[in-house]
Amino acid sequence: MIESPLLQQRTGYINGHWADTTDCDTFAVFNPATGKVLARVPAMNAAMVTRAVESAHGSLRLTQPYPLSERRRWLEGVRDTLTANRDELGRILCLEHGKPLPEARGEVDYAAGFFDFCARNLDALQPRALDERPKNCDWTVHYRPVGAVGLITPWNFPIGMIAKKLSAALAAGCPAVIKPASETPLTMIALFSLLHEQLALPPGLVNLVMGKARVIGTILCQHPDVAMLSFTGSTEVGRTLIADTAEQVKKLSLELGGNAPYIVFEDADLEAAAENLVANKFRGSGQTCVCANRVFVHHRVMDRFGALLTDRVAAMTVGDGLRDGVDLGPLINQAGYDKVQRHLQDALEKGATLLAGQRPEDLSTDNLFFPPTVIRGVTADMDCYREETFGPLVPLAGFDGEEEVVRAANDTEFGLAAYVFTADAERARRVAAGLRFGHVGWNTGTGPTPEAPFGGMKASGIGREGGLEGMFEFVEAQTVPRGF
Ligand code: ADP
Repeated sequence: MIESPLLQQRTGYINGHWADTTDCDTFAVFNPATGKVLARVPAMNAAMVTRAVESAHGSLRLTQPYPLSERRRWLEGVRDTLTANRDELGRILCLEHGKPLPEARGEVDYAAGFFDFCARNLDALQPRALDERPKNCDWTVHYRPVGAVGLITPWNFPIGMIAKKLSAALAAGCPAVIKPASETPLTMIALFSLLHEQLALPPGLVNLVMGKARVIGTILCQHPDVAMLSFTGSTEVGRTLIADTAEQVKKLSLELGGNAPYIVFEDADLEAAAENLVANKFRGSGQTCVCANRVFVHHRVMDRFGALLTDRVAAMTVGDGLRDGVDLGPLINQAGYDKVQRHLQDALEKGATLLAGQRPEDLSTDNLFFPPTVIRGVTADMDCYREETFGPLVPLAGFDGEEEVVRAANDTEFGLAAYVFTADAERARRVAAGLRFGHVGWNTGTGPTPEAPFGGMKASGIGREGGLEGMFEFVEAQTVPRGF
């Protein structure tokens, strides 16, 4: 069992109080590195989730909105408490997710960055007087909070994902009901312990529920007091949320699956491309929606690039994220492990060759540590090319021409992140413009940052997180006479 000063309470949080969940069923949270139970937390029932929604709605202030100065204080307060507690939050995150401790602590810093960005840019939400006078009237646009919001997060960034959503919601003055993934609720509980102990937020402004996704999801979709849902997770669940909120026409912000292309042209700095790929692909053991999922390498440089990559992969250490010197932790659960193994098996059966890693039949069956793996000769009929692998499998596919590779990269229903490596700036511009992806990196494998709007085209989602656009997701523009 996990011990932590930030986990004195292991329950939900409603209307400024820890929820009494003694009568609720509980579920176990595991350490994926050891398979041991870290904690048991309550599966909150429908009545509790409804109470959380009503408490959030009760703290919504429309006629006397929370002033921007007060919201800035909240944002700076969350930023500062995250920073001050990065070590312990990172340790909890490492234990329940499995990612290496330095990476977990880096995620806490990343999370703090979103609160910092919103605090510094809050004035973007000041009312805006129109210069023109349509119909002979003076108008001002106000950015009103959209209302009480439901924030649903996945397990792959237990603090990063909620930071993107909650920072923007607080900036906009929106109360929230938060549901963490059942694999990683402890980091969220720890965050709430800090909010409760250290920040005097208005009761009801932030509420925490956990338990069965269907029970919570149904209430967040159907309760009229929830004005908007912000969700990060699979496209499959995203589609369910679209369908379940259609009746009430709720506002949605969805960050869904990806199938990121990583394109290496023949004139690229191959060392840098390999270095960036390792950093991009093996973060979180490959379990992020911006991890390269199809690596297109020009035929002329395939041998050299493959060798550079395998050299680097051979030097990587897989193990318990708490240990020093570990580069990759375990996968989150058996289903995640089995999927990567299935993709590897399918690719090898269809003609790919293994450059680094182990053959599927040699993989361990009693733990979740999947070795970093590189295959080449990947083609469009393979599962690893069509589906998001969400694991440390690097599939290399050859190409010859610019148009061909743009077409291939776009040949997916997803459109989240893409990366282009070339020394030719003109070509990079052309390719970026042709790629139907919300984020395109040039000679870098870095993903989202607090300052830049990030989100998907096509089936990768609706809306943006980060940047000013991220804050504007949580407001409704209202046009009223000047002076109001
Ligand atoms: P992943 O594959 O990353 O687990 P999911 O889309 O299954 O992605 O889950 C992401 C988040 O959505 C988790 O918090 C999960 O519990 C939640 N979730 C899953 N199904 C539903 C649902 N029907 N309604 C609301 N939330 C859901």
